[in-house]
Amino acid sequence: MIFVTNDDGIDAPGLKALAEVLETLDEVYVVAPDRERSAVGMAITLHQPLRAKKVRPRAYAVDGTPVDCVDLALGTLLPEPPKLLVSGINRGQNLGVDIHFSGTVGAAKKGTLLEIPSIAVSLALEGAAKRPDFHYKTAATIACRIAKQVVEKGLPKQILLNVNVPNCQLSEVKGIKITRQDMGTYSANAITRLDRGGRPYYWIGGDRAQVDFGGDTDLHAIHNRRVSVTPVQLDFTDHTLITPLKAWLADENMQL
Ligand code: MN
Repeated sequence: MIFVTNDDGIDAPGLKALAEVLETLDEVYVVAPDRERSAVGMAITLHQPLRAKKVRPRAYAVDGTPVDCVDLALGTLLPEPPKLLVSGINRGQNLGVDIHFSGTVGAAKKGTLLEIPSIAVSLALEGAAKRPDFHYKTAATIACRIAKQVVEKGLPKQILLNVNVPNCQLSEVKGIKITRQDMGTYSANAITRLDRGGRPYYWIGGDRAQVDFGGDTDLHAIHNRRVSVTPVQLDFTDHTLITPLKAWLADENMQL
């Protein structure tokens, strides 16, 4: 059985396209937020109860976050542990540092923590693939091929795949690239407005400021109309800095 979730909500067209195509591989269960919960990362709901509503056979809408959905699915709603979790298809890219904020990737991270092979799939709307229409079918077709590989070959522990697909026809996709995460940053951006009482309120959300744009990055692949597949690890430790930092302990300031 394959478990499908997302952060755009149970009614999102990307979720429908993904679930439909994965049915060709195996039985699909859907547990997804009852409304859009984009950019909530790995947030969980601890201070109020959660409700799950059965909306179709093998499909539940939950009034919580994507990670809540994974917890509920694995903890009670699914009849057995899935052999694969696929999160998406997100409306919009999850490239570079986006993965820290993404609810789509957040759900795949949670699946990985629970030792389920997990894939996050996003339809990239920036770069060369910027279009007014949404090619979820392209992303679904590619997601299905990658899902098949993951089921057959498995993934190492603590590793998920972050897949981004350019928003175009399948015939216009220029291939699949295995990439690394672009480490460009966003600008801090806050728009200030005044409410009717004259009090300020704000909208946040920056633009990509610098882009590292090595030829091997996820962003580069998408800007060249290629599918980007990044192996993402949950271990945030910088192993190269362990030894140099140990040398700091010799400093007299660090003596206890
Ligand atoms: Mn989303």
